[in-house]
Amino acid sequence: MIRLLDETTVGHIAAGEVVERPLSVVKELVENALDAGATRISVAVTAGGLASIEVADDGSGIARDELQIAFARHATSKLARSSDLESIATLGFRGEGLAAIAAVARVRLISRTRYDEVGYVVDAHGLEASAPQPIAAPPGTRVIVSELFGNVPARREFVSSPTAEFTRISNFLATLALAYPEVAFSLSHDGRPTFAFARATASLAERLAHVFGPAPGKALLPIVPDDGPSARGGDIVVSGYVSTPGIDRSDRRMQLLFVNGRLLRTTQLAGAWSAAYATFALSHRQPFGVLFLDLAPGGVDPNVHPTKSDVRFRRPGDIHDAVRRAISATLARNATARMRDALSLAPPVVADRNGYSNSQTSADGGGAYRSQAFALGYATSPETQTAHAAEIAEARLLEVATPELRVLAQLDDTFILATDGRALVLVDQHAAHERVAFEAICTRARAGAPVAEPLLVPYVVELEADEAERFERSRDALASAGLDAEPFGERAYRIVATPAGYGARRFDFAAYVDDLGDEIAGLDARERVWASLACHSVVRAGEALERGEMEALLARLVLCENPMHCPHGRPTIVRLEPDALARMFKRS
Ligand code: ADP
Ligand code: MG
Repeated sequence: MIRLLDETTVGHIAAGEVVERPLSVVKELVENALDAGATRISVAVTAGGLASIEVADDGSGIARDELQIAFARHATSKLARSSDLESIATLGFRGEGLAAIAAVARVRLISRTRYDEVGYVVDAHGLEASAPQPIAAPPGTRVIVSELFGNVPARREFVSSPTAEFTRISNFLATLALAYPEVAFSLSHDGRPTFAFARATASLAERLAHVFGPAPGKALLPIVPDDGPSARGGDIVVSGYVSTPGIDRSDRRMQLLFVNGRLLRTTQLAGAWSAAYATFALSHRQPFGVLFLDLAPGGVDPNVHPTKSDVRFRRPGDIHDAVRRAISATLARNATARMRDALSLAPPVVADRNGYSNSQTSADGGGAYRSQAFALGYATSPETQTAHAAEIAEARLLEVATPELRVLAQLDDTFILATDGRALVLVDQHAAHERVAFEAICTRARAGAPVAEPLLVPYVVELEADEAERFERSRDALASAGLDAEPFGERAYRIVATPAGYGARRFDFAAYVDDLGDEIAGLDARERVWASLACHSVVRAGEALERGEMEALLARLVLCENPMHCPHGRPTIVRLEPDALARMFKRS
């Protein structure tokens, strides 16, 4: 028999989606406090929230005659009409937070607006909300929730231990606090304070350390939102923090994402993190950090899930690109700075000769020394370089004083041993050359500069069927990178031009086509072709190099945007400091 459910049952069903565990109650109440413009939010929990949850704020408060209706389902002050759903600027909007909590717990709400002399208290349980009674209270709202799931024993069984539930609450609140530095947050459990974050206008350091741990907190690089066009994707502003390559994790769990102040559970942007990180570190490692995306409310639809922990982006591709660009610009800037440090370069002597203004400043406050290094013009991403800029860059390369780095020897035909007079510097010749070639190819191709060098004696290669197919798929990208191959009968190609800039070095075509099949995580199709092209057109391990060649290679490496890693993410340079040597000799 089909029948309409009674209101109480309907309320329980609806509440089931919103209030899953004690954390859900904290989340709904804290979101309400933030929406009410609070500058101070304190949360007090007992027995993991199973005994009681209390959230107090100093926000707008609720007027006496609205106190009862606030508990009705679908009652909200945040939407007036259905079209408002297209531009939601508040965390709540469904009007079911308080109703859902009251459906499964006892709720006492005390609230006072700025215009009232006294506060009012309402008790709500199930579908009932008592008439407001006057009570002495400070301006703002205090909500006390007890007997959670007292009337839904089945739900109670799914709840973990008080400790586990409290950990969830604590992690959530500390994370949320990252997006609201202007709000003071405090949390206590069973009467003992867990944390108390003061309003932080300048620095998030304390909150970051709480979420990511004290040491990783230091390793976070700030993503500067208005860092030139590379961090901006039109009306999308990306800011936040990303971990320094080398300090990373094996999983993606600490890749936190806020969109317009809303903490999401989504993994939608995991690909963008990886893509940005791929050429900076080993491929199985994951960066961590927190991203704040700000975009016009119309660009994102949060009305996807009852807990509002997921969103739909109107233009997901743009979001992905903006995030990838912002992260990789931050990592590139950092890599350049670390490279200069690693090689202890004297400030370049040609900083101003071509009228370059020194507008780039380093994010971590490295001071004049580092910003000098950026003045070379290599800190901008290749996309932003015009053909003209590429030419200047080329000219500059010759002008820049050779770094104070002396090549000492080649080891095992594989590593270059050098020194700056202080430390031993080891360079992987293949990885280093790969990086240099990769960036050169990217820059030239993106700038539309001539990239191909016609061969005096074209040669013919024959491919297996699957190779030919792979090759055909990348023909366009190949051509834009300087490899010109003409079909020459079935599955055979005549190579008429190879990428410019490698002199007499022979382009290893067979190995290259073989490599096209491999995915290099994170690089887009064209970049993958370029990385592969770079890999197979440069010196290999096991090749003897002249001193002059080694010097030229180091000089070029220093000028790379990301000199510390090859395009596949392997390190190019290792530096042995005197104190490390001293330890080896048991001197200290
Ligand atoms: P929603 O947040 O989706 O609007 P809720 O059921 O959570 O729905 O809250 C209902 C209404 O009660 C809100 O729209 C708001 O007007 C009011 N309200 C709830 N909590 C607070 C608070 N802490 N401060 C001020 N107003 C509040
Ligand atoms: Mg709400």
